Amino acid sequence: MKITSLLLLTCFITAYLHAQKPGAAIDVKHYEFALTLSDTTNKIKGQAAIDISFITNSQSITLDLVSLTNTQKGMIVLQVTEKGHPLSYTHNNNQLTINFPAIVKSGEQKNIVITYEGIPADGLIITNNKYGHRGFFADNWPNRAHNWFPCIDHPSDKATIDFIVTAPDHYQVISNGIKTEDAVAGNKLHRTHYKETVPLSTKIMVIGVADFAVQQSGSVNGIPVYSWVYPEEKEKGFYDYALAVDILPFFIKNVGPYAFKKLANVESTTMFGGMENASAIFYSDEISITGTRKSESLLAHEIAHQWFGDMATEADWSHLWLSEGFATYMTILYFENKYGPDTAKYMLSQNRNTVIDFARKRLHPVVDSSVTNYMELLNANSYQKGGWVLHMLRRQLGDSLFWKGIRLYYSRYAGKNAITDDLCKAMEDASGQNLKQFFHQWLFVPGHPKLDLQWNYNNDKKEINITVTQQQNELFQFPLELLAGAISKPVFIKGRQTTITIPATEKPATITADPNVNLLFEGNVHEQ
Ligand SMILES: [Zn+2]
Repeated sequence: MKITSLLLLTCFITAYLHAQKPGAAIDVKHYEFALTLSDTTNKIKGQAAIDISFITNSQSITLDLVSLTNTQKGMIVLQVTEKGHPLSYTHNNNQLTINFPAIVKSGEQKNIVITYEGIPADGLIITNNKYGHRGFFADNWPNRAHNWFPCIDHPSDKATIDFIVTAPDHYQVISNGIKTEDAVAGNKLHRTHYKETVPLSTKIMVIGVADFAVQQSGSVNGIPVYSWVYPEEKEKGFYDYALAVDILPFFIKNVGPYAFKKLANVESTTMFGGMENASAIFYSDEISITGTRKSESLLAHEIAHQWFGDMATEADWSHLWLSEGFATYMTILYFENKYGPDTAKYMLSQNRNTVIDFARKRLHPVVDSSVTNYMELLNANSYQKGGWVLHMLRRQLGDSLFWKGIRLYYSRYAGKNAITDDLCKAMEDASGQNLKQFFHQWLFVPGHPKLDLQWNYNNDKKEINITVTQQQNELFQFPLELLAGAISKPVFIKGRQTTITIPATEKPATITADPNVNLLFEGNVHEQ
């Protein structure tokens, strides 16, 4: 997703949930959520049919579901059944534990049906939009889904999904996957059924229910691309969101086929600037529509996530950069392809400043398992530094091997989960290079090189002498380009101090470190 200033405020007021990390006991294969929504109350009624595969012998299972709080928000479970037979359960502290009459053996599958209702405390945002119209928008990241449906609320348990939404008939409903039913349900209600056959993490399972204007903006390789916007700004919105038709081919060509059966770009009340829900991207109604296509980078970022984050998904929160760093750098690559290398250099330079500023406030590695408030991971390490790591990897390998490695990583982990070491292995396999030091220093060591460059010109010997000193604690290894006047000199920095001599017939006016914006560093250049 993209962060907005609104989120910075929200960070401090949202109550964070700590859903379970999936234990070894079960693996959810499929969810079917039948939900009934109303205009007269924010209470939702749900029936969840969940296919569960047992990994170990167990007589009980535990799902995440927010229980009723003293604000009267949260969910109440009315019944749990298996093949029509009631099962006993307990529902406390946001955990629903369901007991079976006998031990279920490893490898067995069960289908359980949970009937529940309540007012979502979060996760499904039911509110009036800026035009005063009511809407229901899921906003699950990072683990807010279990506010409105029972699940294993962790990115590593992916499942296919059906949403069957019964709502007042003036609404339109968007969700993951394709629409398989659109039916009158009586009493001015309408039933809409969406089916997604690609396994998804709960963070990107969504419904959006509101009054929409809908347009098909085009199609790419047979994939229909739609814009879903508030009717009040349909002309601007259709124009802005149609950019998706231009963006999609770049990622299909360079990474691999688009995995889903449609792409809908949806105006919504998400707290984020944009949220990459699979095949139904939600964009903030505050910032995404201007009528001037100012949101091209936002669209490119969220569309890149359909590959990185949605299909190839981080196995745990601490590896979030595999989503956000990729979306950040893939956006830069899209801009470089469309607008030229100077645009990419400008974006990288801006991002480098953001990383340096962030490191002054919070010196943590990119892969940071110490964070338990996952909203804190929406930071410059996950986004800009993650993107920079990919940029330096591209420069080290060259474009051809870089893309070969990206495609190998994607083909291995599409539909699955990965950690940072899995990316390292894929890039090593594609390139034949040992990348362990590269991955270690940029992703597991806090900070970046802080360089002091001292230089002088020896007029007798006609040479420039440059001393590069690494001032940070842990030493990094990296290529560095020095530009002395018109002379470009590539050097490799490894130790605390490196001395370089460059023959030159005259004294250069300046020495520039990294003139082509290829190194994540900060530093000063002084003439001695
Ligand atoms: Zn993102």
